[in-house]
Amino acid sequence: MNWLRLDGFDVGDPREIRDEDGRLLEIQVDCVPNKLDVDLCCLARKLVKNGTRIVKYRDLRLDAAPTILHVTRQQYQCKSCDSTLYQVVPHVDGRHFVTERLRDAVVISSIKRTFADIEHVYGVDEKMARILFRAHADRELLNYRYKAPRVLGIDENALLGAQRAVICDVENGFLLDMHPGCTQSDVRRGLDRMDDWGNVEVWCQDMAGHYKGLAKDLFPKAAIVVDKFHLLKMANHWWSKVRITETPKLPLEVRKGTPGMVRLFDKHWETMTRRQQDRVAEVLEHSPRMKKAWTVKESFYYFYDAPTREDAESAYKDWVQFAKADQHEVWKPLMLTVARWRKEIFNYFDHPYTSGMVERMNRSIGDINRAGNGMDFQTLRAKAILRYSHLIPDWRFNMHFMEAPEPNGWLDGLLDDDAHQEEDTFDERYMIGSGFDPSILAADLEAGSFDAPSIGFAG
Ligand SMILES: [Zn+2]
Repeated sequence: MNWLRLDGFDVGDPREIRDEDGRLLEIQVDCVPNKLDVDLCCLARKLVKNGTRIVKYRDLRLDAAPTILHVTRQQYQCKSCDSTLYQVVPHVDGRHFVTERLRDAVVISSIKRTFADIEHVYGVDEKMARILFRAHADRELLNYRYKAPRVLGIDENALLGAQRAVICDVENGFLLDMHPGCTQSDVRRGLDRMDDWGNVEVWCQDMAGHYKGLAKDLFPKAAIVVDKFHLLKMANHWWSKVRITETPKLPLEVRKGTPGMVRLFDKHWETMTRRQQDRVAEVLEHSPRMKKAWTVKESFYYFYDAPTREDAESAYKDWVQFAKADQHEVWKPLMLTVARWRKEIFNYFDHPYTSGMVERMNRSIGDINRAGNGMDFQTLRAKAILRYSHLIPDWRFNMHFMEAPEPNGWLDGLLDDDAHQEEDTFDERYMIGSGFDPSILAADLEAGSFDAPSIGFAG
């Protein structure tokens, strides 16, 4: 073994390259592969030596400066097929001009560190680190799979510049996968990664018609539940409309205080502090219309607190009567939504999932967006899955039989059994993931320990 600890090479002494001021710029090492391996070009190969070329490969650094291997590579010409061939260089990644050991080190560190850190540690520039990571991740996650959760949540979110469908395990609060798009075919394609579809008993979604169609089509036995969170958001929306039209009519003294109260107005009475309640109540006292709208919104929240489906049915009926009394035009759109999604909305009372989880997820995704602004989607997805999801490699035994030729008389006996039935078996490697808590990703992004944004790197 030579001093570089790369067998298969004859290795020269290291050369230090310095600038005028004597600063070390890089270390060069001359290497010559000591085997004359060449790929096969044709069956009548006739090789003639055709000069050598020096190819540079970056290696792990020996010192503070980057180390570059200058490999002398033999070239050949094949007299039969006229192709040019090159001597095989061991231990290198020929596509990226790095040694395999440097590539592997960069890739493993990239999962745990930011790409900027990699530059400091390995002297590989950030762009190269990203390229090596993506090549590795694409290979590693090509067969990424996860088990179907019992309660599957699907939601679309604006994430890194486009609408993405996010799949989660609602019961455990885990994010399982993110799809680059959110159309029905994007989701259908993405769900191919999921095993054991029969596990899905509850499918939680917002009020997107195409997801409902998908659920009915792919998971006919699952109960579809519309997310409480999305409906409460809607109730807030219609209440806000009244608030916005009524605010200018408030006495100046009261109006002055309202701009700082926008967030407060979106809260549920019960989650507010006593002081906050007093502030809201004070504003509402000046506008009967606002007061009524607020109360209708609040009683819609209470409808969702109903302990059983029967209670919910009657609570909803009461709510409609109350809202209709003198604000029918304000609340009609919400009533129509409930009518259109009645079955899925009331399914919630049999399968009370979502809300907290989806709400938290939405907040985390908001944080991910803010902190990951400019990061490309595929790198974010790959890095998040590789870093946080417990990935367990699994091998699946695949067997493909070529169809046996029909016995047709004269061939019988000429062909042996092996030729009759050609068999091709191989093991396919899978990565089975468990998903991860999106708030950890959001926190790492926020802290800058996940990654810095990359501008102009296609996603
Ligand atoms: Zn040839």
